[in-house]
Amino acid sequence: MEPLRGGKLVNRLPEEAKKIFADYKIQRTPAQWAFRWLWNQPEVTCVLSGMNSSEMVQDNIHTASTVMVGELGPEEEAMLQQVVQAINAKMKVGCTGCGYCMPCPKNVDIPGTFAAYNRRYAEGKFWASVDYVICTALRKTSTAASNCIACGKCETHCPQHLEIRKHLQDAQKELEGPVYKGIRKVVEKLNAF
Ligand code: SF4
Ligand code: SF4
Repeated sequence: MEPLRGGKLVNRLPEEAKKIFADYKIQRTPAQWAFRWLWNQPEVTCVLSGMNSSEMVQDNIHTASTVMVGELGPEEEAMLQQVVQAINAKMKVGCTGCGYCMPCPKNVDIPGTFAAYNRRYAEGKFWASVDYVICTALRKTSTAASNCIACGKCETHCPQHLEIRKHLQDAQKELEGPVYKGIRKVVEKLNAF
């Protein structure tokens, strides 16, 4: 399930990871590499992936029908490990944005919070704060991480087995500073009219 991490392994790869693929002697798309890695695992008998076009279906069928278990050699494995390191270096929480943890009974925007939190480490605090304000504060009802009551419901649905409650606390500390709280107060006053 989610073999391409909600499309992130294709559409939102860090530049460093793209460069590793581009410099490798065998040229394949990131999706082809990801599926090849999966079909290389003896434990994997089924890959459930969302596809948006007949070309994607054909490409994925081609990969599935041409890769055998044990096909990837040590050199290819090493290259893929470099890609993994490049991705992890830019990611604080391994959230794919799939939304399976939603809805939250306290309206916390879990994927939106983690997207902003990850952006804080990939691109700096300013744009992360803008994202977080837009997705949690500029709403009639707050969807902030600080609304979490730690009931744990979300964690039972997360295919990535993330410690959502702990990560939300970390994100709250990072993203809900005095400016954020001030903006939220203004929004609440405007909503009251
Ligand atoms: S643990 Fe927090 S974020 Fe998760 S469902 Fe409960 S209130 Fe919502
Ligand atoms: S926290 Fe888990 S279930 Fe929720 S969006 Fe992220 S990966 Fe998906």
